[in-house]
Amino acid sequence: MAAYDFDLFTIGAGSGGVRASRVSSAYGARVAVAEERYLGGTCVNAGCIPKKLFVYASHFFDDFEDSAGFGWTVGERKFEWPALLRNKDAEIERLGRVYAGLLDDAGVTRIEGRARIVDPHTVEVDGRRMTTGNILVATGSWPSLPRIDGIEHAITSNEAFHLERLPRRAVVVGGGYIAVEFAGIFHGLGVDVVELYRGPLFLRGFDDDVRATLAEEMRRKGIDLRFDARVAKIEKRAGDLVVHLEDGSAIASDLVLYATGRDPLTADLGLEAVGVAMNDRGAVVVDGYSRSSVPSIWAIGDATDRINLTPVAIAEGMALAKTLFGGEATQADHADVPSAVFSQPAVGSVGLTEAEARQRYGAVDIYRSRFRALKNTLSGRGERTMMKLIVDRASDRVVGCHMVGPEAGEIIQGFAVALKCGATKVQFDATIGIHPTSAEEFVTMRTPVAD
Ligand SMILES: Cc1cc2nc3c(=O)[nH]c(=O)nc-3n(C[C@H](O)[C@H](O)[C@H](O)COP(=O)(O)OP(=O)(O)OC[C@H]3O[C@@H](n4cnc5c(N)ncnc54)[C@H](O)[C@@H]3O)c2cc1C
Repeated sequence: MAAYDFDLFTIGAGSGGVRASRVSSAYGARVAVAEERYLGGTCVNAGCIPKKLFVYASHFFDDFEDSAGFGWTVGERKFEWPALLRNKDAEIERLGRVYAGLLDDAGVTRIEGRARIVDPHTVEVDGRRMTTGNILVATGSWPSLPRIDGIEHAITSNEAFHLERLPRRAVVVGGGYIAVEFAGIFHGLGVDVVELYRGPLFLRGFDDDVRATLAEEMRRKGIDLRFDARVAKIEKRAGDLVVHLEDGSAIASDLVLYATGRDPLTADLGLEAVGVAMNDRGAVVVDGYSRSSVPSIWAIGDATDRINLTPVAIAEGMALAKTLFGGEATQADHADVPSAVFSQPAVGSVGLTEAEARQRYGAVDIYRSRFRALKNTLSGRGERTMMKLIVDRASDRVVGCHMVGPEAGEIIQGFAVALKCGATKVQFDATIGIHPTSAEEFVTMRTPVAD
Protein backbone atom coordinates (compact mmCIF):
# COMPACT_ATOMS: atom_id res chain seq x y z
CA MET A 1 0.00 0.00 0.00
CA ALA A 2 2.96 2.36 0.55
CA ALA A 3 3.09 2.98 -3.20
CA TYR A 4 0.03 5.21 -2.75
CA ASP A 5 -0.10 8.62 -1.05
CA PHE A 6 -2.74 7.31 1.37
CA ASP A 7 -4.18 3.98 2.47
CA LEU A 8 -7.70 5.44 2.67
CA PHE A 9 -9.14 8.54 1.05
CA THR A 10 -12.55 9.44 2.46
CA ILE A 11 -14.85 11.71 0.48
CA GLY A 12 -17.12 13.54 2.91
CA ALA A 13 -16.47 14.40 6.56
CA GLY A 14 -19.96 13.65 7.83
CA SER A 15 -21.17 11.16 10.41
CA GLY A 16 -19.84 8.08 8.63
CA GLY A 17 -16.74 9.54 6.97
CA VAL A 18 -15.33 11.08 10.14
CA ARG A 19 -15.75 7.85 12.11
CA ALA A 20 -14.26 5.64 9.39
CA SER A 21 -11.31 8.03 8.99
CA ARG A 22 -10.54 8.41 12.69
CA VAL A 23 -10.75 4.71 13.47
CA SER A 24 -8.73 3.74 10.37
CA SER A 25 -6.03 6.19 11.40
CA ALA A 26 -6.03 4.76 14.92
CA TYR A 27 -5.35 1.34 13.34
CA GLY A 28 -2.25 2.89 11.75
CA ALA A 29 -3.58 3.65 8.27
CA ARG A 30 -2.57 6.84 6.41
CA VAL A 31 -5.89 8.58 5.94
CA ALA A 32 -7.10 11.74 4.19
CA VAL A 33 -10.61 13.13 4.25
CA ALA A 34 -11.97 15.74 1.82
CA GLU A 35 -14.92 17.92 2.80
CA GLU A 36 -16.50 20.48 0.49
CA ARG A 37 -19.07 22.11 2.76
CA TYR A 38 -19.03 21.56 6.51
CA LEU A 39 -17.18 19.32 8.95
CA GLY A 40 -19.54 16.94 10.72
CA GLY A 41 -21.83 16.72 7.68
CA THR A 42 -25.60 16.91 7.59
CA CYS A 43 -26.30 15.73 11.13
CA VAL A 44 -24.27 18.45 12.82
CA ASN A 45 -24.93 21.28 10.39
CA ALA A 46 -28.35 20.77 8.82
CA GLY A 47 -29.90 17.75 10.47
CA CYS A 48 -30.16 16.05 13.85
CA ILE A 49 -28.45 18.65 16.01
CA PRO A 50 -29.97 21.97 14.88
CA LYS A 51 -33.31 20.16 14.47
CA LYS A 52 -33.28 18.93 18.07
CA LEU A 53 -32.29 22.39 19.30
CA PHE A 54 -35.31 23.78 17.45
CA VAL A 55 -37.52 21.09 18.98
CA TYR A 56 -36.37 22.13 22.44
CA ALA A 57 -37.11 25.77 21.60
CA SER A 58 -40.59 24.94 20.40
CA HIS A 59 -41.53 22.99 23.56
CA PHE A 60 -41.44 25.97 25.88
CA PHE A 61 -44.82 27.29 24.87
CA ASP A 62 -46.49 24.08 26.09
CA ASP A 63 -44.29 24.06 29.18
CA PHE A 64 -45.38 27.59 30.12
CA GLU A 65 -49.02 26.59 29.61
CA ASP A 66 -48.64 23.37 31.61
CA SER A 67 -46.99 25.16 34.52
CA ALA A 68 -50.22 26.93 35.49
CA GLY A 69 -51.75 23.71 36.85
CA PHE A 70 -48.72 23.37 39.11
CA GLY A 71 -49.23 26.79 40.61
CA TRP A 72 -46.96 28.87 38.42
CA THR A 73 -47.75 32.21 36.89
CA VAL A 74 -45.39 32.92 34.05
CA GLY A 75 -44.78 36.55 33.15
CA GLU A 76 -44.59 38.10 29.70
CA ARG A 77 -43.57 35.55 27.06
CA LYS A 78 -41.59 36.74 24.10
CA PHE A 79 -39.82 34.60 21.55
CA GLU A 80 -36.94 35.98 19.47
CA TRP A 81 -36.17 33.84 16.47
CA PRO A 82 -32.86 35.66 15.72
CA ALA A 83 -31.60 34.82 19.23
CA LEU A 84 -32.36 31.13 18.69
CA LEU A 85 -30.56 31.18 15.31
CA ARG A 86 -27.56 32.99 16.75
CA ASN A 87 -27.17 30.57 19.65
CA LYS A 88 -27.74 27.54 17.43
CA ASP A 89 -25.13 28.78 14.92
CA ALA A 90 -22.60 29.38 17.69
CA GLU A 91 -23.08 25.83 18.96
CA ILE A 92 -22.69 24.40 15.47
CA GLU A 93 -19.52 26.39 14.92
CA ARG A 94 -18.20 24.99 18.16
CA LEU A 95 -19.03 21.46 17.02
CA GLY A 96 -17.25 22.11 13.72
CA ARG A 97 -14.11 22.98 15.67
CA VAL A 98 -14.53 19.83 17.76
CA TYR A 99 -14.71 17.71 14.60
CA ALA A 100 -11.60 19.39 13.17
CA GLY A 101 -9.80 18.68 16.46
CA LEU A 102 -10.89 15.04 16.48
CA LEU A 103 -9.57 14.47 12.97
CA ASP A 104 -6.33 16.36 13.63
CA ASP A 105 -5.71 14.52 16.88
CA ALA A 106 -6.27 11.22 15.10
CA GLY A 107 -3.63 12.19 12.51
CA VAL A 108 -6.09 12.34 9.59
CA THR A 109 -5.09 14.73 6.77
CA ARG A 110 -7.96 17.20 6.26
CA ILE A 111 -8.50 18.57 2.79
CA GLU A 112 -11.02 21.33 2.05
CA GLY A 113 -12.76 21.09 -1.28
CA ARG A 114 -14.82 18.95 -3.56
CA ALA A 115 -13.35 15.55 -4.37
CA ARG A 116 -13.81 13.54 -7.57
CA ILE A 117 -12.74 10.03 -8.34
CA VAL A 118 -10.34 9.86 -11.27
CA ASP A 119 -9.63 6.12 -11.24
CA PRO A 120 -10.01 3.33 -8.68
CA HIS A 121 -6.91 4.57 -6.85
CA THR A 122 -6.85 8.31 -7.59
CA VAL A 123 -8.87 11.21 -6.22
CA GLU A 124 -8.71 14.83 -7.31
CA VAL A 125 -9.50 17.91 -5.22
CA ASP A 126 -9.19 21.34 -6.84
CA GLY A 127 -6.82 20.04 -9.49
CA ARG A 128 -4.61 18.20 -6.98
CA ARG A 129 -4.39 14.47 -7.62
CA MET A 130 -3.71 12.02 -4.83
CA THR A 131 -3.34 8.26 -4.97
CA THR A 132 -4.83 5.91 -2.42
CA GLY A 133 -5.19 2.22 -1.67
CA ASN A 134 -8.91 2.61 -0.95
CA ILE A 135 -11.55 5.24 -1.60
CA LEU A 136 -14.51 5.69 0.72
CA VAL A 137 -17.62 7.43 -0.62
CA ALA A 138 -19.32 9.00 2.41
CA THR A 139 -20.97 11.89 0.63
CA GLY A 140 -24.41 11.72 2.27
CA SER A 141 -27.67 12.84 0.69
CA TRP A 142 -29.47 16.00 -0.43
CA PRO A 143 -33.14 17.05 -0.41
CA SER A 144 -35.01 16.17 -3.57
CA LEU A 145 -37.79 18.36 -4.93
CA PRO A 146 -40.57 17.39 -7.32
CA ARG A 147 -40.78 19.15 -10.67
CA ILE A 148 -43.95 21.19 -10.25
CA ASP A 149 -44.73 24.76 -11.25
CA GLY A 150 -43.50 27.24 -8.67
CA ILE A 151 -41.26 24.80 -6.80
CA GLU A 152 -38.61 27.55 -6.78
CA HIS A 153 -40.73 29.32 -4.14
CA ALA A 154 -40.38 26.38 -1.75
CA ILE A 155 -37.55 25.81 0.67
CA THR A 156 -36.08 22.56 2.02
CA SER A 157 -34.86 21.67 5.50
CA ASN A 158 -31.46 23.13 4.53
CA GLU A 159 -32.91 26.65 4.34
CA ALA A 160 -35.30 26.15 7.26
CA PHE A 161 -32.31 26.32 9.59
CA HIS A 162 -31.43 29.82 8.39
CA LEU A 163 -34.72 31.65 7.88
CA GLU A 164 -34.39 35.38 8.37
CA ARG A 165 -37.86 35.62 9.86
CA LEU A 166 -40.22 33.15 11.41
CA PRO A 167 -43.28 33.00 9.13
CA ARG A 168 -46.80 33.56 10.44
CA ARG A 169 -48.16 30.69 8.32
CA ALA A 170 -46.33 27.66 6.94
CA VAL A 171 -47.24 24.77 4.68
CA VAL A 172 -45.08 21.71 5.22
CA VAL A 173 -45.22 19.17 2.39
CA GLY A 174 -44.20 15.60 3.13
CA GLY A 175 -45.01 12.66 5.35
CA GLY A 176 -41.60 11.51 6.53
CA TYR A 177 -40.03 12.24 9.88
CA ILE A 178 -38.41 15.50 8.76
CA ALA A 179 -41.76 16.96 7.62
CA VAL A 180 -43.48 15.84 10.81
CA GLU A 181 -40.74 17.30 12.98
CA PHE A 182 -40.77 20.67 11.23
CA ALA A 183 -44.56 20.84 11.44
CA GLY A 184 -44.19 20.42 15.21
CA ILE A 185 -41.34 22.91 15.48
CA PHE A 186 -43.16 25.65 13.59
CA HIS A 187 -46.41 25.02 15.41
CA GLY A 188 -44.68 25.13 18.79
CA LEU A 189 -43.14 28.47 17.89
CA GLY A 190 -46.57 29.92 17.16
CA VAL A 191 -46.77 29.48 13.39
CA ASP A 192 -50.08 28.37 11.80
CA VAL A 193 -49.11 25.06 10.19
CA VAL A 194 -50.72 22.97 7.48
CA GLU A 195 -48.98 19.68 6.73
CA LEU A 196 -49.80 18.04 3.42
CA TYR A 197 -49.08 14.42 2.59
CA ARG A 198 -50.07 12.67 -0.62
CA GLY A 199 -50.72 9.27 1.06
CA PRO A 200 -53.53 8.22 3.40
CA LEU A 201 -51.41 8.48 6.58
CA PHE A 202 -47.92 9.85 7.23
CA LEU A 203 -44.80 8.11 8.63
CA ARG A 204 -44.93 5.16 6.25
CA GLY A 205 -42.82 2.31 7.65
CA PHE A 206 -43.77 3.01 11.27
CA ASP A 207 -46.33 0.93 13.15
CA ASP A 208 -49.91 1.86 12.22
CA ASP A 209 -50.89 2.58 15.83
CA VAL A 210 -47.94 4.98 16.07
CA ARG A 211 -48.96 6.74 12.89
CA ALA A 212 -52.62 7.07 13.85
CA THR A 213 -51.87 8.16 17.42
CA LEU A 214 -49.43 10.82 16.33
CA ALA A 215 -51.85 12.17 13.73
CA GLU A 216 -54.56 12.42 16.38
CA GLU A 217 -52.27 14.19 18.85
CA MET A 218 -50.89 16.62 16.28
CA ARG A 219 -54.43 17.52 15.29
CA ARG A 220 -55.37 17.95 18.93
CA LYS A 221 -52.57 20.51 19.21
CA GLY A 222 -54.00 22.42 16.29
CA ILE A 223 -51.83 21.36 13.36
CA ASP A 224 -53.90 21.14 10.20
CA LEU A 225 -52.95 17.71 8.83
CA ARG A 226 -54.25 16.91 5.39
CA PHE A 227 -53.69 13.45 3.94
CA ASP A 228 -54.30 12.33 0.36
CA ALA A 229 -53.39 15.90 -0.53
CA ARG A 230 -51.35 16.39 -3.68
CA VAL A 231 -49.80 19.69 -4.61
CA ALA A 232 -50.40 20.79 -8.19
CA LYS A 233 -48.42 24.04 -8.16
CA ILE A 234 -47.18 26.89 -6.02
CA GLU A 235 -47.93 30.44 -7.00
CA LYS A 236 -46.52 33.71 -5.67
CA ARG A 237 -49.35 36.20 -5.40
CA ALA A 238 -49.32 39.61 -3.70
CA GLY A 239 -46.95 38.65 -0.89
CA ASP A 240 -48.54 35.23 -0.38
CA LEU A 241 -47.38 31.85 -1.50
CA VAL A 242 -50.46 30.01 -2.69
CA VAL A 243 -50.28 26.23 -2.67
CA HIS A 244 -52.77 24.79 -5.17
CA LEU A 245 -53.87 21.22 -4.57
CA GLU A 246 -54.96 18.74 -7.22
CA ASP A 247 -58.47 18.70 -5.73
CA GLY A 248 -58.83 22.37 -6.70
CA SER A 249 -58.42 23.83 -3.21
CA ALA A 250 -55.71 26.35 -2.36
CA ILE A 251 -53.85 27.40 0.78
CA ALA A 252 -52.26 30.82 1.24
CA SER A 253 -49.04 30.80 3.24
CA ASP A 254 -45.87 32.73 3.99
CA LEU A 255 -43.57 29.75 3.70
CA VAL A 256 -43.66 26.41 1.89
CA LEU A 257 -41.26 23.78 3.20
CA TYR A 258 -40.77 20.66 1.12
CA ALA A 259 -39.55 17.58 2.94
CA THR A 260 -40.48 14.93 0.42
CA GLY A 261 -37.33 12.86 0.43
CA ARG A 262 -33.59 12.94 -0.03
CA ASP A 263 -31.40 11.50 -2.77
CA PRO A 264 -27.90 10.05 -2.37
CA LEU A 265 -25.35 12.79 -3.16
CA THR A 266 -23.39 10.83 -5.72
CA ALA A 267 -23.71 12.79 -8.98
CA ASP A 268 -20.53 14.05 -10.70
CA LEU A 269 -18.27 12.10 -8.38
CA GLY A 270 -16.79 10.09 -11.22
CA LEU A 271 -18.40 6.89 -9.97
CA GLU A 272 -20.01 5.80 -13.25
CA ALA A 273 -16.81 6.38 -15.22
CA VAL A 274 -14.83 4.00 -13.00
CA GLY A 275 -17.59 1.38 -13.17
CA VAL A 276 -19.16 1.66 -9.70
CA ALA A 277 -22.66 0.14 -9.81
CA MET A 278 -25.44 2.42 -8.60
CA ASN A 279 -29.16 1.85 -8.22
CA ASP A 280 -31.92 3.88 -9.88
CA ARG A 281 -31.91 6.39 -6.99
CA GLY A 282 -28.18 7.04 -7.40
CA ALA A 283 -27.18 5.06 -4.31
CA VAL A 284 -23.89 3.20 -4.43
CA VAL A 285 -24.65 -0.52 -4.43
CA VAL A 286 -22.54 -2.22 -1.75
CA ASP A 287 -22.22 -5.63 -0.13
CA GLY A 288 -22.50 -6.30 3.60
CA TYR A 289 -18.95 -5.01 4.08
CA SER A 290 -19.81 -1.73 2.30
CA ARG A 291 -17.71 -2.67 -0.73
CA SER A 292 -18.87 -1.41 -4.13
CA SER A 293 -18.60 -3.25 -7.44
CA VAL A 294 -15.06 -1.80 -7.76
CA PRO A 295 -12.95 -3.59 -5.12
CA SER A 296 -10.95 -0.52 -3.96
CA ILE A 297 -14.05 1.70 -3.65
CA TRP A 298 -16.30 1.50 -0.60
CA ALA A 299 -19.38 3.46 0.44
CA ILE A 300 -21.25 4.06 3.69
CA GLY A 301 -24.07 6.16 5.10
CA ASP A 302 -26.78 7.96 3.18
CA ALA A 303 -24.81 7.58 -0.07
CA THR A 304 -25.78 3.89 0.06
CA ASP A 305 -29.43 4.54 1.03
CA ARG A 306 -29.67 1.64 3.46
CA ILE A 307 -30.90 3.00 6.83
CA ASN A 308 -30.36 6.74 6.63
CA LEU A 309 -29.56 7.62 10.21
CA THR A 310 -26.44 9.01 11.85
CA PRO A 311 -25.73 6.10 14.21
CA VAL A 312 -26.05 3.68 11.29
CA ALA A 313 -23.56 5.67 9.19
CA ILE A 314 -21.22 5.65 12.20
CA ALA A 315 -21.62 1.88 12.68
CA GLU A 316 -20.90 1.32 8.99
CA GLY A 317 -17.80 3.53 9.28
CA MET A 318 -16.56 1.58 12.31
CA ALA A 319 -17.14 -1.75 10.59
CA LEU A 320 -15.33 -0.58 7.47
CA ALA A 321 -12.26 0.57 9.42
CA LYS A 322 -12.13 -2.80 11.16
CA THR A 323 -12.48 -4.65 7.87
CA LEU A 324 -9.81 -2.63 6.09
CA PHE A 325 -7.23 -2.01 8.80
CA GLY A 326 -8.30 -3.81 11.98
CA GLY A 327 -7.67 -7.30 10.66
CA GLU A 328 -11.28 -8.34 11.22
CA ALA A 329 -13.79 -8.45 8.36
CA THR A 330 -16.88 -6.85 9.92
CA GLN A 331 -20.38 -6.15 8.68
CA ALA A 332 -22.47 -3.41 10.26
CA ASP A 333 -25.55 -4.91 11.88
CA HIS A 334 -28.72 -3.42 10.43
CA ALA A 335 -31.15 -5.46 12.52
CA ASP A 336 -33.35 -3.89 15.19
CA VAL A 337 -32.09 -0.34 14.64
CA PRO A 338 -34.07 1.88 17.02
CA SER A 339 -35.27 5.26 15.82
CA ALA A 340 -37.12 8.29 17.08
CA VAL A 341 -39.22 10.99 15.52
CA PHE A 342 -38.82 14.21 17.46
CA SER A 343 -42.41 15.09 16.82
CA GLN A 344 -44.65 16.53 19.52
CA PRO A 345 -45.43 14.15 21.17
CA ALA A 346 -42.34 12.14 20.28
CA VAL A 347 -42.17 8.70 18.68
CA GLY A 348 -39.75 5.91 19.55
CA SER A 349 -39.63 2.55 17.80
CA VAL A 350 -37.52 -0.57 17.67
CA GLY A 351 -38.07 -3.87 15.95
CA LEU A 352 -40.95 -4.90 13.76
CA THR A 353 -44.25 -3.16 13.19
CA GLU A 354 -47.37 -5.22 13.87
CA ALA A 355 -47.90 -5.74 10.14
CA GLU A 356 -44.30 -6.89 9.61
CA ALA A 357 -44.45 -9.21 12.63
CA ARG A 358 -47.71 -10.81 11.47
CA GLN A 359 -46.18 -11.42 8.09
CA ARG A 360 -42.96 -12.87 9.48
CA TYR A 361 -44.26 -14.89 12.43
CA GLY A 362 -47.96 -15.41 11.78
CA ALA A 363 -49.14 -15.72 15.37
CA VAL A 364 -48.26 -12.67 17.42
CA ASP A 365 -49.61 -11.18 20.62
CA ILE A 366 -50.15 -7.44 20.77
CA TYR A 367 -50.00 -5.53 24.05
CA ARG A 368 -51.15 -1.93 23.88
CA SER A 369 -51.71 0.73 26.44
CA ARG A 370 -53.10 4.23 26.05
CA PHE A 371 -53.08 6.56 29.00
CA ARG A 372 -52.85 10.12 30.12
CA ALA A 373 -49.40 10.75 31.64
CA LEU A 374 -49.34 11.75 35.31
CA LYS A 375 -48.08 15.25 34.48
CA ASN A 376 -51.17 15.89 32.41
CA THR A 377 -53.50 15.35 35.37
CA LEU A 378 -52.51 18.73 36.81
CA SER A 379 -51.50 20.45 33.58
CA GLY A 380 -54.92 19.65 32.14
CA ARG A 381 -53.38 18.73 28.81
CA GLY A 382 -55.46 16.18 26.92
CA GLU A 383 -52.47 14.48 25.30
CA ARG A 384 -52.38 10.70 25.60
CA THR A 385 -49.43 8.33 25.48
CA MET A 386 -49.50 5.10 23.45
CA MET A 387 -47.23 2.12 24.09
CA LYS A 388 -47.20 -1.15 22.24
CA LEU A 389 -45.36 -4.45 22.43
CA ILE A 390 -45.41 -7.10 19.73
CA VAL A 391 -44.58 -10.63 20.84
CA ASP A 392 -43.89 -13.68 18.69
CA ARG A 393 -46.24 -16.24 20.24
CA ALA A 394 -44.09 -19.27 19.39
CA SER A 395 -40.84 -18.05 20.98
CA ASP A 396 -42.32 -15.47 23.40
CA ARG A 397 -39.71 -13.00 22.10
CA VAL A 398 -40.62 -9.32 22.06
CA VAL A 399 -40.08 -8.40 18.42
CA GLY A 400 -41.43 -4.85 18.38
CA CYS A 401 -41.61 -2.03 20.89
CA HIS A 402 -43.27 1.28 19.97
CA MET A 403 -44.26 4.43 21.77
CA VAL A 404 -45.82 7.83 21.18
CA GLY A 405 -45.36 10.13 24.13
CA PRO A 406 -42.93 12.39 25.96
CA GLU A 407 -39.30 11.18 25.93
CA ALA A 408 -40.16 8.25 23.64
CA GLY A 409 -36.67 8.30 22.11
CA GLU A 410 -34.98 8.19 25.52
CA ILE A 411 -37.20 5.31 26.65
CA ILE A 412 -36.97 3.20 23.51
CA GLN A 413 -33.16 3.44 23.48
CA GLY A 414 -33.11 1.35 26.66
CA PHE A 415 -35.64 -1.19 25.43
CA ALA A 416 -33.63 -1.52 22.20
CA VAL A 417 -30.93 -3.27 24.23
CA ALA A 418 -33.51 -5.77 25.51
CA LEU A 419 -34.72 -6.50 21.98
CA LYS A 420 -31.16 -6.85 20.73
CA CYS A 421 -30.58 -9.43 23.47
CA GLY A 422 -33.68 -11.34 22.36
CA ALA A 423 -35.68 -10.63 25.52
CA THR A 424 -38.91 -12.56 25.96
CA LYS A 425 -42.22 -11.27 27.25
CA VAL A 426 -41.69 -13.38 30.38
CA GLN A 427 -38.44 -11.46 30.99
CA PHE A 428 -40.21 -8.14 30.42
CA ASP A 429 -42.82 -9.25 32.98
CA ALA A 430 -40.10 -10.25 35.44
CA THR A 431 -38.60 -6.77 35.28
CA ILE A 432 -39.72 -4.46 38.08
CA GLY A 433 -41.03 -1.11 36.91
CA ILE A 434 -39.78 2.30 38.01
CA HIS A 435 -42.71 4.08 39.55
CA PRO A 436 -44.14 6.52 38.70
CA THR A 437 -42.92 6.67 35.11
CA SER A 438 -44.51 6.14 31.73
CA ALA A 439 -41.80 3.63 30.84
CA GLU A 440 -42.98 1.20 33.54
CA GLU A 441 -45.99 0.48 31.36
CA PHE A 442 -43.71 -1.54 29.07
CA VAL A 443 -43.08 -4.05 31.87
CA THR A 444 -46.59 -4.10 33.32
CA MET A 445 -48.78 -4.82 30.30
CA ARG A 446 -50.23 -8.26 31.07
CA THR A 447 -53.21 -8.85 28.77
CA PRO A 448 -52.90 -8.96 25.01
CA VAL A 449 -55.43 -6.99 23.04
CA ALA A 450 -58.05 -9.07 21.26
CA ASP A 451 -57.12 -10.18 17.71
C1 LIG B 1 -33.38 17.71 8.77
C2 LIG B 1 -32.71 16.40 9.10
C3 LIG B 1 -32.86 15.86 10.34
C4 LIG B 1 -32.25 14.67 10.67
N1 LIG B 1 -32.42 14.16 11.92
C5 LIG B 1 -31.82 12.99 12.26
C6 LIG B 1 -31.94 12.47 13.57
O1 LIG B 1 -32.62 13.06 14.42
N2 LIG B 1 -31.32 11.33 13.88
C7 LIG B 1 -30.54 10.64 12.95
O2 LIG B 1 -29.97 9.60 13.28
N3 LIG B 1 -30.41 11.11 11.68
C8 LIG B 1 -31.02 12.27 11.33
N4 LIG B 1 -30.86 12.77 10.06
C9 LIG B 1 -30.11 11.95 9.07
C10 LIG B 1 -28.61 12.11 9.24
O3 LIG B 1 -28.28 13.47 9.21
C11 LIG B 1 -27.90 11.36 8.14
O4 LIG B 1 -28.35 10.02 8.09
C12 LIG B 1 -26.39 11.35 8.35
O5 LIG B 1 -25.88 12.65 8.42
C13 LIG B 1 -25.70 10.55 7.24
O6 LIG B 1 -24.32 10.59 7.43
P1 LIG B 1 -23.35 10.45 6.19
O7 LIG B 1 -21.96 10.33 6.74
O8 LIG B 1 -23.82 9.40 5.28
O9 LIG B 1 -23.51 11.81 5.36
P2 LIG B 1 -23.45 13.33 5.82
O10 LIG B 1 -23.47 13.50 7.27
O11 LIG B 1 -24.46 14.03 5.01
O12 LIG B 1 -22.01 13.79 5.34
C14 LIG B 1 -21.65 13.83 3.99
C15 LIG B 1 -20.60 14.90 3.82
O13 LIG B 1 -19.98 14.74 2.54
C16 LIG B 1 -19.69 16.01 2.01
N5 LIG B 1 -19.53 15.85 0.57
C17 LIG B 1 -20.47 15.45 -0.33
N6 LIG B 1 -19.91 15.35 -1.57
C18 LIG B 1 -18.60 15.69 -1.43
C19 LIG B 1 -17.51 15.78 -2.34
N7 LIG B 1 -17.65 15.45 -3.64
N8 LIG B 1 -16.30 16.18 -1.88
C20 LIG B 1 -16.15 16.51 -0.56
N9 LIG B 1 -17.15 16.43 0.35
C21 LIG B 1 -18.35 16.02 -0.09
C22 LIG B 1 -20.93 16.83 2.40
O14 LIG B 1 -20.65 18.21 2.38
C23 LIG B 1 -21.17 16.31 3.82
O15 LIG B 1 -20.51 17.09 4.80
C24 LIG B 1 -31.45 13.98 9.70
C25 LIG B 1 -31.28 14.53 8.43
C26 LIG B 1 -31.91 15.72 8.13
C27 LIG B 1 -31.72 16.31 6.76
